[in-house]
Amino acid sequence: MSSLQPVRGTVDLLPEDARKHRTIEALFARLVERYGFGEIATPIFEFTEVFSRTLGETSDIVTKEMYTFTSGDESLTLRPEGTAGVARAFITHGLHHALPLKVSYRGPMFRHERPQKGRLRQFHQVGVELLGVDSPLADAEVITLAAHFLDELGVTDTVTLELNSLGDAESRAAYRAALVDHLAGRGNGLSDDSRRRLAGNPLRILDSKDEGDRAIVATAPLLTDFLNAPSRAFLDRLCTLLAAAGLSPVLNPRLVRGLDYYCHTAFEFTTTALGAQGTVLAGGRYDGLIQQMGGPATPGIGWAAGVERLALLHEDRTALPRPVVLVPLGEAAESAGFALAQDLRKAGLHVEMGYAGTLSRRLKRAHKMNACAAVIVGENELAQGKAVVRDLDDGTQTDISFFDLAGQMIRLYRDKQ
Ligand code: ATP
Ligand code: MG
Repeated sequence: MSSLQPVRGTVDLLPEDARKHRTIEALFARLVERYGFGEIATPIFEFTEVFSRTLGETSDIVTKEMYTFTSGDESLTLRPEGTAGVARAFITHGLHHALPLKVSYRGPMFRHERPQKGRLRQFHQVGVELLGVDSPLADAEVITLAAHFLDELGVTDTVTLELNSLGDAESRAAYRAALVDHLAGRGNGLSDDSRRRLAGNPLRILDSKDEGDRAIVATAPLLTDFLNAPSRAFLDRLCTLLAAAGLSPVLNPRLVRGLDYYCHTAFEFTTTALGAQGTVLAGGRYDGLIQQMGGPATPGIGWAAGVERLALLHEDRTALPRPVVLVPLGEAAESAGFALAQDLRKAGLHVEMGYAGTLSRRLKRAHKMNACAAVIVGENELAQGKAVVRDLDDGTQTDISFFDLAGQMIRLYRDKQ
């Protein structure tokens, strides 16, 4: 029955996957705090306008990928990305009085695109935004944070930092004219999507994944050759700062971000390990965004990383704690064992119950969950006020009185982790 399958492009995170996601998000949460970012949690749906006006009416996301629905007479959209919602909240709450503002977010995003490995319709991002600083110091800080995050995840060896400058408005206008010149002559070879972009947003053609487009783009003029002096100085300063932090980005003059509101810095951390889904973390500067939404002119820079793509690269080396397993034999022992399990959990131990079945089956299950010890309480033991503690590594068994049990188990548990 198809209705018992998750919707195409969505997945259930079973405990092992969910744990990996949580490890990545917890690491992110700890790290961004060190850089002074506080968490912001905006709703997962907004008025459609919040996205259509900020991402640009011609962007892929707005034209093809949004989950939009009407509720009453309102058009609402499940958020496809995090920045627009943060910008909306920034204006809603008048946060320009508290600049610079540094926030982080995490959670599900929704885009209707063709599902593949590392490309889903509901996926998860973690991201940061730094608002109110127009100096390259902000760019350097968020990029360095991104590199630090990937380093802590142990994926640095598999990723490359690519950097480009989209320049200021003047530089982009000059480049745009040259690009349109180049592309217009080759218009017939472009994909339908790109022909449409030619008038509205030609820069985005540089980002096309279509083979034919890529060939045409390969010979196009380079944005970097059109940067005016202030734009070039901005990029140079950023590179100097990144070098001071030990980062040496690969300059990629063809790197553009898919969204309309970017200027100056654009960057991506890419990998060759995930096929076409090569970008694990991407971001850039969006000085025009807040004003375009109707707020006061406020510079900003940020990035977002796809948690699913990070999870594909990250090897979870955090070991699960080795539990103690309580094995009560008989009803009376069950009450005593149950109470003991509770005491041990309150003392911080990871305790599992050996619920039912023969003693050997319960011990087998305990081994399977990598338990360090089993506490076996039968009728005889109960009558004598003791339990049998079996060391599951060497099989030795010791009788321990109830009186000493909690203390002894806490010690044993700590030794075995
Ligand atoms: P792509 O070029 O792969 O479509 P994008 O430019 O659309 O990526 P962004 O909007 O910059 O991606 O989102 C930032 C990050 O979020 C991406 O680098 C990626 O890791 C992740 N991401 C984006 N779309 C998806 C998706 N559909 N499924 C899983 N992760 C995604
Ligand atoms: Mg995309």
